Amino acid sequence: MRCKICRKEKAVINIKSYLLSLCKDCFVDRFRRQLRHTIKQYRMFGPNDRILIAVSGGKDSSVLWYLLTEMGYQADGLYIDLGIEKNQYSLRSKEYAQQLSQSLKRPLLVYDLRTNTGKGIPDLKGHSNRKSCSVCGKIKRHFMNKIAREKGYDCLATGHNLDDETAALLQSTLRWQQHYLGRQAPVLEEREEGFVRKVKPLVRFTEKEVALFAFLSQLPYLEDECPYAKGATTLFLKDILNQIEERSPGTKLAFYQEFLKIKALFQRELPPPNQCMICGMPTTAQICSACKILSPSLP
Ligand code: SF4
Repeated sequence: MRCKICRKEKAVINIKSYLLSLCKDCFVDRFRRQLRHTIKQYRMFGPNDRILIAVSGGKDSSVLWYLLTEMGYQADGLYIDLGIEKNQYSLRSKEYAQQLSQSLKRPLLVYDLRTNTGKGIPDLKGHSNRKSCSVCGKIKRHFMNKIAREKGYDCLATGHNLDDETAALLQSTLRWQQHYLGRQAPVLEEREEGFVRKVKPLVRFTEKEVALFAFLSQLPYLEDECPYAKGATTLFLKDILNQIEERSPGTKLAFYQEFLKIKALFQRELPPPNQCMICGMPTTAQICSACKILSPSLP
């Protein structure tokens, strides 16, 4: 199959939702253009903003860091070492993050959960009834926000792609969780009470497109799944969405974009948060959920 844009080279991908077959060069050009467009469309950040990218050693955050650096943004990385020893997961993912930091010549901040709190995710997951990914997600969000704030970054960028966002959207929609629906967006504005601005520049790209970009750009990244990902609800929902997409190309993007048009229906004026009695971070309760997870004996 030939590329539909240049009509010369052999196609490396067929984007069924757009009936578009693209060669390597046309695919990476289009990827860059779409990323620029998304950043501009949602006014994510400007050339003078200091951006902190949550880097996991995986493909999404690696592609994001690589491209933002290439575009000239001041983007530094933050790696949170979760202390996952199984398959040397944390050790190996940190090595990939460090390797990318060196090749991009951009600083990588490393926060070691075990050194700083005495516990890694394998210890914490037994502390609550929550599933590993739920515990991990809360802990990561807590420290990413805290570090971005303390270090004076203008925004925190994550590598969430269209598959991540539609899986989260489907999960919240199935239970009509208005609180989550109201907060799902490509940009979450800074809140004076202590939340930094959060942005997701890869929201328009499918996991497959991001993986292909990483492969064609020869970016180093860890391909293995986290050992705790097995059986995660998100993977199940992604699989269902992929089956729907196969039968009806374009559904994922339409699901997400049409949701953004009606998102205001789910937004509620949130009461000003309290300060957590332990760490001082914003929370709707007396003690934030990260502190409760870290100290399960607290009431
Ligand atoms: Fe954390 Fe779950 Fe991701 Fe593993 S798969 S890093 S436990 S959120």
